[in-house]
Amino acid sequence: MKHQVERAERTAEWIQEEHDGLLLLFSPALREFNWMTHVFTTRKGGESEAPLDSFNLGRHWESPESKADAMLNRQRLSGILGIDHKKLAVPGQQHTNNVSYLDKSSNTENGALTGIDGLATRIGGQGLLLHFADCVPVMLADPATRTISVVHAGWRGTASGIVANAVKAMVTQGSNPKDIVVAIGPAIAPCCFETAPDVAGQLCKSASDGDELVLYKNDKAYPDLKSINARQAKSAGVERVDISNLCTACNPQIFYSHRQSGGRTGRQGALACVI
Ligand SMILES: [Zn+2]
Repeated sequence: MKHQVERAERTAEWIQEEHDGLLLLFSPALREFNWMTHVFTTRKGGESEAPLDSFNLGRHWESPESKADAMLNRQRLSGILGIDHKKLAVPGQQHTNNVSYLDKSSNTENGALTGIDGLATRIGGQGLLLHFADCVPVMLADPATRTISVVHAGWRGTASGIVANAVKAMVTQGSNPKDIVVAIGPAIAPCCFETAPDVAGQLCKSASDGDELVLYKNDKAYPDLKSINARQAKSAGVERVDISNLCTACNPQIFYSHRQSGGRTGRQGALACVI
Protein backbone atom coordinates (compact mmCIF):
# COMPACT_ATOMS: atom_id res chain seq x y z
CA MET A 1 0.00 0.00 0.00
CA LYS A 2 1.52 3.27 -1.09
CA HIS A 3 0.53 6.69 0.11
CA GLN A 4 -2.72 8.28 -1.00
CA VAL A 5 -2.68 10.38 -4.10
CA GLU A 6 -1.85 13.98 -3.45
CA ARG A 7 -3.11 16.46 -5.94
CA ALA A 8 -0.10 18.43 -7.03
CA GLU A 9 -2.14 21.03 -8.78
CA ARG A 10 -5.16 22.99 -7.69
CA THR A 11 -8.31 22.01 -9.56
CA ALA A 12 -10.78 24.73 -10.33
CA GLU A 13 -14.48 25.19 -10.90
CA TRP A 14 -14.78 25.92 -14.56
CA ILE A 15 -17.26 28.20 -16.26
CA GLN A 16 -20.39 26.35 -17.46
CA GLU A 17 -22.66 28.14 -19.91
CA GLU A 18 -25.53 27.23 -22.18
CA HIS A 19 -25.23 28.46 -25.76
CA ASP A 20 -27.88 27.60 -28.35
CA GLY A 21 -29.03 24.72 -26.13
CA LEU A 22 -25.53 23.25 -25.71
CA LEU A 23 -23.82 22.87 -22.34
CA LEU A 24 -20.29 24.24 -22.81
CA LEU A 25 -17.30 24.55 -20.49
CA PHE A 26 -14.60 27.20 -20.41
CA SER A 27 -11.30 27.53 -18.57
CA PRO A 28 -11.32 30.65 -16.36
CA ALA A 29 -7.61 31.19 -17.15
CA LEU A 30 -8.08 31.09 -20.94
CA ARG A 31 -11.21 33.24 -20.74
CA GLU A 32 -8.93 36.12 -19.73
CA PHE A 33 -7.49 36.26 -23.27
CA ASN A 34 -9.46 38.35 -25.76
CA TRP A 35 -7.21 37.39 -28.69
CA MET A 36 -8.40 33.79 -28.74
CA THR A 37 -11.57 31.78 -28.27
CA HIS A 38 -11.88 28.29 -26.82
CA VAL A 39 -14.40 25.73 -25.61
CA PHE A 40 -14.59 22.27 -24.08
CA THR A 41 -17.85 20.63 -25.15
CA THR A 42 -20.18 18.18 -23.41
CA ARG A 43 -22.57 15.63 -24.94
CA LYS A 44 -25.65 17.70 -24.07
CA GLY A 45 -27.85 19.58 -26.50
CA GLY A 46 -27.08 18.01 -29.90
CA GLU A 47 -28.96 15.95 -32.47
CA SER A 48 -26.91 12.73 -32.70
CA GLU A 49 -28.76 9.52 -31.88
CA ALA A 50 -27.84 6.87 -29.29
CA PRO A 51 -25.23 5.65 -28.54
CA LEU A 52 -23.65 8.86 -29.86
CA ASP A 53 -26.24 11.11 -28.24
CA SER A 54 -26.30 13.85 -28.50
CA PHE A 55 -23.58 16.42 -29.33
CA ASN A 56 -21.08 14.09 -30.96
CA LEU A 57 -18.31 15.92 -32.80
CA GLY A 58 -16.85 12.74 -34.39
CA ARG A 59 -14.56 11.21 -35.32
CA HIS A 60 -16.09 7.94 -34.12
CA TRP A 61 -19.11 7.58 -36.34
CA GLU A 62 -21.32 4.52 -36.61
CA SER A 63 -23.04 5.29 -39.93
CA PRO A 64 -23.09 7.86 -42.75
CA GLU A 65 -25.95 9.60 -40.88
CA SER A 66 -23.95 9.87 -37.66
CA LYS A 67 -21.01 11.29 -39.63
CA ALA A 68 -23.33 13.88 -41.17
CA ASP A 69 -24.64 14.72 -37.66
CA ALA A 70 -21.09 15.19 -36.39
CA MET A 71 -20.29 17.52 -39.28
CA LEU A 72 -23.42 19.57 -38.53
CA ASN A 73 -22.47 19.65 -34.85
CA ARG A 74 -19.01 21.00 -35.77
CA GLN A 75 -20.67 23.66 -37.89
CA ARG A 76 -23.04 24.60 -35.07
CA LEU A 77 -20.20 24.86 -32.55
CA SER A 78 -18.09 26.97 -34.92
CA GLY A 79 -21.08 29.28 -35.38
CA ILE A 80 -21.40 29.77 -31.61
CA LEU A 81 -17.72 30.73 -31.41
CA GLY A 82 -17.94 32.91 -34.51
CA ILE A 83 -15.33 30.98 -36.47
CA ASP A 84 -15.35 29.33 -39.91
CA HIS A 85 -16.06 25.58 -39.66
CA LYS A 86 -14.51 25.03 -43.09
CA LYS A 87 -11.14 26.08 -41.69
CA LEU A 88 -11.10 23.65 -38.75
CA ALA A 89 -7.97 21.51 -38.53
CA VAL A 90 -8.98 18.08 -37.18
CA PRO A 91 -6.08 15.64 -36.81
CA GLY A 92 -6.34 11.86 -37.10
CA GLN A 93 -5.48 11.08 -33.49
CA GLN A 94 -3.61 7.82 -32.89
CA HIS A 95 -2.33 8.09 -29.27
CA THR A 96 1.05 9.38 -30.45
CA ASN A 97 3.14 12.21 -28.97
CA ASN A 98 3.28 14.06 -32.32
CA VAL A 99 2.54 17.78 -32.25
CA SER A 100 2.37 19.64 -35.54
CA TYR A 101 2.79 23.42 -35.87
CA LEU A 102 0.53 24.83 -38.59
CA ASP A 103 1.63 27.82 -40.62
CA LYS A 104 0.04 29.35 -43.70
CA SER A 105 1.55 26.71 -46.00
CA SER A 106 0.37 23.70 -43.95
CA ASN A 107 -2.07 21.27 -45.53
CA THR A 108 -4.94 20.84 -43.05
CA GLU A 109 -7.24 18.88 -45.33
CA ASN A 110 -8.85 15.63 -44.31
CA GLY A 111 -6.22 12.92 -44.10
CA ALA A 112 -3.24 15.31 -44.13
CA LEU A 113 -2.96 15.26 -40.33
CA THR A 114 -3.01 11.50 -39.75
CA GLY A 115 -1.01 10.25 -36.78
CA ILE A 116 -1.04 13.67 -35.11
CA ASP A 117 -2.30 14.15 -31.52
CA GLY A 118 -1.48 17.81 -31.02
CA LEU A 119 -1.68 20.96 -33.11
CA ALA A 120 -0.28 24.44 -32.59
CA THR A 121 -0.71 27.63 -34.58
CA ARG A 122 -0.86 31.42 -34.48
CA ILE A 123 -2.90 31.84 -37.66
CA GLY A 124 -6.03 33.89 -37.00
CA GLY A 125 -9.22 32.00 -37.86
CA GLN A 126 -7.47 28.60 -37.91
CA GLY A 127 -9.54 26.53 -35.47
CA LEU A 128 -7.95 23.47 -33.86
CA LEU A 129 -10.41 20.71 -32.92
CA LEU A 130 -9.51 17.46 -31.15
CA HIS A 131 -11.74 14.69 -29.79
CA PHE A 132 -12.02 12.97 -26.45
CA ALA A 133 -13.90 10.31 -24.51
CA ASP A 134 -11.91 10.05 -21.21
CA CYS A 135 -8.46 11.06 -22.57
CA VAL A 136 -7.11 14.38 -21.33
CA PRO A 137 -7.74 17.53 -23.39
CA VAL A 138 -4.90 20.00 -22.91
CA MET A 139 -4.92 23.55 -24.27
CA LEU A 140 -1.91 25.83 -24.24
CA ALA A 141 -1.97 29.57 -24.93
CA ASP A 142 0.87 32.08 -25.05
CA PRO A 143 -0.38 35.68 -24.88
CA ALA A 144 3.10 37.06 -25.71
CA THR A 145 3.28 35.47 -29.17
CA ARG A 146 -0.47 34.76 -29.45
CA THR A 147 0.15 31.09 -30.14
CA ILE A 148 -2.22 28.27 -29.17
CA SER A 149 -2.03 24.50 -29.01
CA VAL A 150 -4.56 21.72 -28.39
CA VAL A 151 -3.37 18.25 -27.38
CA HIS A 152 -4.96 14.79 -26.96
CA ALA A 153 -3.25 13.09 -24.02
CA GLY A 154 -4.49 9.58 -23.34
CA TRP A 155 -2.30 7.38 -21.21
CA ARG A 156 0.03 6.60 -24.12
CA GLY A 157 0.39 10.24 -25.15
CA THR A 158 0.88 11.20 -21.50
CA ALA A 159 3.50 8.50 -20.91
CA SER A 160 5.40 9.66 -24.00
CA GLY A 161 5.29 13.34 -22.99
CA ILE A 162 3.00 14.95 -25.55
CA VAL A 163 2.44 18.08 -23.43
CA ALA A 164 6.19 18.69 -23.25
CA ASN A 165 6.26 18.28 -27.04
CA ALA A 166 3.54 20.93 -27.37
CA VAL A 167 5.57 23.35 -25.23
CA LYS A 168 8.63 22.54 -27.36
CA ALA A 169 6.71 23.19 -30.59
CA MET A 170 5.65 26.60 -29.26
CA VAL A 171 9.17 27.44 -28.00
CA THR A 172 10.57 26.61 -31.45
CA GLN A 173 8.23 29.30 -32.77
CA GLY A 174 9.43 31.90 -30.25
CA SER A 175 7.40 31.28 -27.09
CA ASN A 176 8.88 31.49 -23.62
CA PRO A 177 7.51 28.58 -21.51
CA LYS A 178 6.81 30.83 -18.53
CA ASP A 179 4.38 32.88 -20.63
CA ILE A 180 2.36 29.81 -21.60
CA VAL A 181 -0.92 29.17 -19.75
CA VAL A 182 -2.18 25.58 -19.74
CA ALA A 183 -5.80 24.47 -19.33
CA ILE A 184 -6.52 20.80 -18.63
CA GLY A 185 -10.12 19.86 -19.34
CA PRO A 186 -12.53 17.18 -18.08
CA ALA A 187 -11.04 13.67 -18.32
CA ILE A 188 -11.12 10.34 -16.53
CA ALA A 189 -9.88 10.78 -12.95
CA PRO A 190 -8.31 8.34 -10.46
CA CYS A 191 -11.81 7.51 -9.09
CA CYS A 192 -12.53 5.64 -12.36
CA PHE A 193 -9.16 5.05 -14.10
CA GLU A 194 -7.92 1.67 -12.97
CA THR A 195 -4.84 0.53 -14.89
CA ALA A 196 -2.39 -2.32 -15.02
CA PRO A 197 0.72 -1.74 -12.89
CA ASP A 198 2.99 -1.49 -15.97
CA VAL A 199 0.85 1.36 -17.35
CA ALA A 200 1.02 3.12 -14.00
CA GLY A 201 4.80 2.57 -13.99
CA GLN A 202 5.20 4.22 -17.40
CA LEU A 203 3.06 7.15 -16.28
CA CYS A 204 5.08 7.56 -13.06
CA LYS A 205 8.28 7.75 -15.09
CA SER A 206 6.87 10.43 -17.38
CA ALA A 207 6.59 13.12 -14.67
CA SER A 208 8.98 14.21 -11.94
CA ASP A 209 7.89 12.55 -8.67
CA GLY A 210 5.17 10.91 -10.78
CA ASP A 211 4.66 8.15 -8.20
CA GLU A 212 2.92 10.76 -6.01
CA LEU A 213 0.27 10.99 -8.72
CA VAL A 214 -0.86 7.37 -8.70
CA LEU A 215 -3.25 6.01 -6.06
CA TYR A 216 -2.76 2.34 -5.16
CA LYS A 217 -5.62 0.36 -3.63
CA ASN A 218 -5.80 -3.43 -3.24
CA ASP A 219 -2.86 -3.90 -5.64
CA LYS A 220 -4.61 -1.85 -8.30
CA ALA A 221 -3.26 1.41 -9.69
CA TYR A 222 -5.31 4.56 -10.28
CA PRO A 223 -3.21 7.24 -12.04
CA ASP A 224 -4.18 10.91 -11.97
CA LEU A 225 -3.69 11.65 -15.68
CA LYS A 226 -4.67 15.31 -15.40
CA SER A 227 -2.13 16.01 -12.67
CA ILE A 228 0.60 14.05 -14.47
CA ASN A 229 0.09 16.24 -17.54
CA ALA A 230 0.12 19.34 -15.33
CA ARG A 231 3.40 18.18 -13.74
CA GLN A 232 4.92 17.66 -17.19
CA ALA A 233 3.89 21.18 -18.23
CA LYS A 234 5.49 22.61 -15.07
CA SER A 235 8.68 20.65 -15.70
CA ALA A 236 8.76 22.19 -19.19
CA GLY A 237 8.73 25.67 -17.59
CA VAL A 238 5.02 26.51 -17.57
CA GLU A 239 3.97 28.42 -14.43
CA ARG A 240 0.19 28.58 -14.65
CA VAL A 241 -1.99 25.47 -15.04
CA ASP A 242 -5.79 25.50 -14.75
CA ILE A 243 -7.39 22.06 -14.24
CA SER A 244 -11.06 21.11 -14.49
CA ASN A 245 -12.18 19.01 -11.52
CA LEU A 246 -14.71 16.99 -13.56
CA CYS A 247 -14.31 13.26 -14.21
CA THR A 248 -15.79 12.13 -17.53
CA ALA A 249 -16.50 8.57 -16.34
CA CYS A 250 -18.32 9.78 -13.18
CA ASN A 251 -20.63 11.96 -15.28
CA PRO A 252 -21.91 9.87 -18.23
CA GLN A 253 -24.95 12.10 -18.60
CA ILE A 254 -22.65 15.08 -19.31
CA PHE A 255 -19.64 13.49 -21.04
CA TYR A 256 -18.79 10.70 -23.43
CA SER A 257 -16.73 8.12 -21.55
CA HIS A 258 -14.99 5.26 -23.33
CA ARG A 259 -14.47 3.40 -20.06
CA GLN A 260 -17.98 3.90 -18.70
CA SER A 261 -19.71 3.03 -22.02
CA GLY A 262 -17.62 -0.02 -22.84
CA GLY A 263 -16.25 1.74 -25.92
CA ARG A 264 -19.35 2.47 -27.98
CA THR A 265 -19.82 6.19 -27.58
CA GLY A 266 -19.30 9.58 -29.18
CA ARG A 267 -16.66 12.22 -28.75
CA GLN A 268 -16.65 15.63 -27.07
CA GLY A 269 -14.32 18.29 -28.37
CA ALA A 270 -11.70 20.78 -27.30
CA LEU A 271 -11.61 23.65 -29.79
CA ALA A 272 -9.38 26.73 -29.75
CA CYS A 273 -8.83 29.48 -32.30
CA VAL A 274 -6.80 32.68 -32.48
CA ILE A 275 -9.21 35.43 -33.51
ZN1 LIG B 1 -14.62 9.24 -11.80
